[in-house]
Amino acid sequence: MTPGESNDTVPLDKAHLWHPFTQHCDWNAPEHEPLVLVSGQGAVLHDSAGRGYIDGNSSIWTNLHGHRHPKIDAAIRAQLDRVAHTSFLGFTHPLAAELARELVALWPTETLTRVFFSDNGSTAVEVALKMAVQFWQQTGHPERTRFVAFTGAYHGDTMGASSLGGIATFHGRFSTWQFPAEHVASLAELRSLEATTIAAVVIEPLIQGAAGMRLWPRGMLAELRRWCDAHGVLLILDEVMTGFGRTGRMFACEHEGVVPDFIALAKGLTGGYLPLAATLTTERIFNAFLGGPERTLYYGHSYTANPLGCAAALASLAIFRDEHVLEALAPRIELFARLLAELRQQPHVSEVRQCGFIAGIELRRTVDEPYLPDQMIGTKVCLAARQHGLLTRPIRDTIVLMPQYCITEPQLRAALKALSTAVHEVCGHS
Ligand code: PMP
Repeated sequence: MTPGESNDTVPLDKAHLWHPFTQHCDWNAPEHEPLVLVSGQGAVLHDSAGRGYIDGNSSIWTNLHGHRHPKIDAAIRAQLDRVAHTSFLGFTHPLAAELARELVALWPTETLTRVFFSDNGSTAVEVALKMAVQFWQQTGHPERTRFVAFTGAYHGDTMGASSLGGIATFHGRFSTWQFPAEHVASLAELRSLEATTIAAVVIEPLIQGAAGMRLWPRGMLAELRRWCDAHGVLLILDEVMTGFGRTGRMFACEHEGVVPDFIALAKGLTGGYLPLAATLTTERIFNAFLGGPERTLYYGHSYTANPLGCAAALASLAIFRDEHVLEALAPRIELFARLLAELRQQPHVSEVRQCGFIAGIELRRTVDEPYLPDQMIGTKVCLAARQHGLLTRPIRDTIVLMPQYCITEPQLRAALKALSTAVHEVCGHS
C-alpha cells in the first residue's frame, strides 16, 4: 500500500497525533470524523472518499496559484534530481542566490537589498527582532530595546514572535516568559510613548489577520512610516499573510508607498508548497553586522534556504511574471467584492471586511448582540459549508475566505453560494 491509501488514518491520527489550535476532547470524540485530505488540483482539494472541496482559505493562507501547479511541481522535481537539502551554514547554492536577487528586485532600487532565509512566519519575525536589537547595540544605541506592537496583532507562536502578539487567548498565559513588548491600539497611542528607547514597531500592514481580518484605516501605514522616520525607530512589516499578491499588489505596503526596514515573508513565498521564509532588510542594517566575530548574527536553522523551497519560490515568482497573475487578479477581486456584497445582505452577516483577495465575514445574532462563544457559530457555519463543498476555518464568529488566485469565476461563485447556504442553515433566516 502506498502512503495515502490507508484506511487507518483516522484511528492512527486519534491515537497518536496532536493538532495545532485543536481541543482534542472534541477532535478525538467518537462522533468526530476528521476530514482526510489526500490530493488537490488547482483550487480544489479531495478527501479520502473522493469528494472535492474548494480550498476556501488557500490551505491556511499559503497557496497562491493552485495545488499541483505544473511549473512548481516541475521545479521541485528538477531540484530533487540534484539534491534535496544542503547546509547553508558555511555553504551556498545557486537557487538561494537567484531567489535572493529576485526578492530584492521586487523592491525599489537600493532599499531592501539583503535576504535572510528561515522556515516559517514566526521565524521570519524572530529574525527581524534579533537583527533590530543587535543593530542598535552595534550602532551606539543600546538603550533602544523596546518593541511596540498593536492590540490584536498576531506574529506567530514561537516565544519571541508571540511576545508581540496582542491576542490574549493565544498568548496570555505565557506572558511571564515572554519578553516585554508594549501594545498600542492606534497611532495616537503610539505617539504618546517615549520614542528614544524604542527599537522597532511591528505591524501587519493594512489588515490584521488572526484578529479577525481587521482593516487599518487607509493612510495609517504611511503615517506610521513617517512617525518611525521622525523618531529614528525601525519599522518591521509582517507580510506573512499579506505578501505575494494577497491584497492585489505584490506587497500590502505598496498600497501606501511604504518601504520598511524589515519585512517578514513566509506562507506564499513558495506558492504555498514548502516551509520557507525570508526576512528582507536594508544595507544600513546589514553593514552594522560587519566586523569581528562579536558582530555576527548568531541565528539560523538547519533547513535555512532549503533548495526545494527555493526552487518552489522561484517557480512561483516566474508564474507571477509569465501568467500576469496580478493583472488577472484585479477583475477577480472586483467580482469577489460584488459576491461579498450580496452575502452581506443576509440578516446575520453583520460586516464583511475585504482587502484584495482576503475577506472576513462577521456573523452576529443581531446588530447589537454577538453570538455567545459556546454557540461556536463560526465553527458550525464552516462545518455546514463543508457539506456544500467549501473548506475554510473561522476566527471565532468571523469566517475567513481567502481563495487561490487561480480560482475560476464559477468556483468563486460556488464558494460564496456554499457559504451563504451554510449561514442560512446555521443562523436561520431572521
Ligand atoms: N504573521 C502573520 C501575520 C500570520 O498570519 C502568521 C500565521 N498565520 C504568522 C506570522 C506565523 O506564521 P507561521 O504559522 O508560518 O509561523
